[in-house]
Amino acid sequence: MDFRRLEDAKLKGKTALVRVDFNVPRTKDGAISDDTRLQAAVPTIKALQKAGAKTILLSHYGRPKGVPDPALSLRFIVGPLANALESEVLFTEKLTEPVVEMLKDGEVMVIENTRFAKAETDGSREMAEYLAAHGDIFIMDAFSAAHRNHASSAVIGEILPAYAGLAMERELDHISQALEKPKAPVMGVVGGAKVSTKIDLLKNLVSKLDILAIGGGMANTFLYAQGHNVAASLCEKDLKDTALEIMKNAKKAKCKILLPVDVVVAKEFAANAKHRQCGLDDAKGKDMILDCGTETVRQLMDAMDSAKTLIWNGPLGAFELTPFDTSTVEAAKYAAKLTKAGKLVSVAGGGDTVAALKHAGAADDFTFISTAGGAFLEWMEGKPLPGVEILKK
Ligand code: AMP
Repeated sequence: MDFRRLEDAKLKGKTALVRVDFNVPRTKDGAISDDTRLQAAVPTIKALQKAGAKTILLSHYGRPKGVPDPALSLRFIVGPLANALESEVLFTEKLTEPVVEMLKDGEVMVIENTRFAKAETDGSREMAEYLAAHGDIFIMDAFSAAHRNHASSAVIGEILPAYAGLAMERELDHISQALEKPKAPVMGVVGGAKVSTKIDLLKNLVSKLDILAIGGGMANTFLYAQGHNVAASLCEKDLKDTALEIMKNAKKAKCKILLPVDVVVAKEFAANAKHRQCGLDDAKGKDMILDCGTETVRQLMDAMDSAKTLIWNGPLGAFELTPFDTSTVEAAKYAAKLTKAGKLVSVAGGGDTVAALKHAGAADDFTFISTAGGAFLEWMEGKPLPGVEILKK
């Protein structure tokens, strides 16, 4: 993907407005419970410090509904960020000229939660112009916010020269490796609870992939559409025609669809519930399909062997409940093994996927795991992302 990168920008003596994602999870007592997003912002900030730029950091935190809410102040990030950067970090509630003038080259300042103004989520041009008036360049480093047309993450980039930060660059380079210019054959694994949340994604994928494996609760809708008995399983029967249409389009586009050929059923949606493995039409009465069976996993592995690129979203079964995590764990481990051996480029992301792959112990060996949720899914849907469009040449 062709886009403007940090290395293309003249930074010395410039004031850079940098959109980061400090929307980190916190415990009840306010401590950061997972600092992945904070750490992701560090390389770009350090590069700006080294180049002698003034850095002004913009981020949202939580959902304050357009009004200041002390519980959602970004002030908490200052200490942990200063520790990570090993340098002082300033904070201001409002971006003003005197505040920016005070800032010296190499210094870093955090602005209060951008969502304290409703104009942010409205994508207000006026707010974007106000922010832009206080800087020379805009650096977008929050892929996870790139699907929103908000003032501080997209609109501002229509006003100032916009560049991708280093975290953003890494995301874009890796995801384009999987769908834009992938090494063929390209295989997708899509799982998760429902078809209804992933219709656009499936429609886009069948037009781009060579093989698409569908698992999880959503596979039940496809099995039902094909006339199989899914008993008491999670199944969106009203989406039968949608499922058939997706399969028809896949055939037209020469995308091979892999559906479960055997399943694991239980009468209770609970960990360690009494369960059995059976063929597709052997589910009866109160049986719920909660995982794919061993033959299905074997077919998935065979398909992975034939692929050069893999893109994965969603678990293949109710992975939070043992033993219904088995097919997700086995398939993820196999993808990780092929990746480690240099035989497969594997990219995953969106929603529960990161948790599922971490649970499988496979996350570290995947080529790339996006921490973005909605943005990754919209990218898989083939939609243009406003925060990415502003970076294109
Ligand atoms: P999603 O957010 O759409 O990726 O869905 C993830 C959720 O789907 C997880 O909480 C899984 O437990 C759930 N899930 C996966 N397979 C099944 C299944 N066969 N029946 C019910 N829930 C499932």
